[in-house]
Amino acid sequence: MSSITLALSKGRIFEETLPLLAAAGIVPTDNPESSRKLIIGTNRPEVRLVIVRATDTPTYVQYGAADLGIAGKDVLIEHGGAGLYQPLDLEIARCRMCVAVRKGFDYGAATRPGGRIRVATKYINAAKAHFANKAMHVDLIKLYGSMELAPLVGLADAIVDLVSSGATLRANDLEEVEEIMSISSRLVVNQASLKTKRELIQPILDVFSQAVKG
Ligand code: ATP
Ligand code: MG
Repeated sequence: MSSITLALSKGRIFEETLPLLAAAGIVPTDNPESSRKLIIGTNRPEVRLVIVRATDTPTYVQYGAADLGIAGKDVLIEHGGAGLYQPLDLEIARCRMCVAVRKGFDYGAATRPGGRIRVATKYINAAKAHFANKAMHVDLIKLYGSMELAPLVGLADAIVDLVSSGATLRANDLEEVEEIMSISSRLVVNQASLKTKRELIQPILDVFSQAVKG
């Protein structure tokens, strides 16, 4: 009998996926927050979960190491989406991608034609596309986390980061000056798995899409 593997990251994606899994009659046998296991079984012998870093989810699915995964739009844009079918916006882990600067920094002046700014971000592709659309020259600096620090120590003039409540920006004297896009997480499916394991994957797709509508 064939089986399927779903790639999830710990934290908000895992937590917000649990109700969707429950709707599909799938209950994990361990909690990745407390267990150190990276492969987690479920009540359904043909369904297992693998726990990966959020940025790695599309890669596991692209190569078929996982049949399905759940990843943020931010992560999917940086990955590029090769080999992935993206059938469903699950509308979980919602936030927005935005440009933020130090309070008082004159972003309007800095971004006038001919201006040039330094932007630190984990989201190089999304940032590149955003500033290219505005016909702006930017020097992008790749960071892997804590982007908020960069403008405070002179590494960059601005950051492109994800924001939900804005509390982290406020705590660091930063302000949002531009929204780039709203972000939520999508179901991604390996294109080959969709064909070879459709009898297992399609019912999950159907239940998830019902749950999103409901
Ligand atoms: P880590 O926090 O381990 O460095 P990460 O930031 O990639 O990794 P998570 O924090 O679990 O992983 O975020 C997973 C996804 O949730 C992100 O890709 C994004 O789509 C979404 N997300 C990130 N930050 C927020 C937020 N503050 N509120 C809501 N959703 C968010
Ligand atoms: Mg995070």
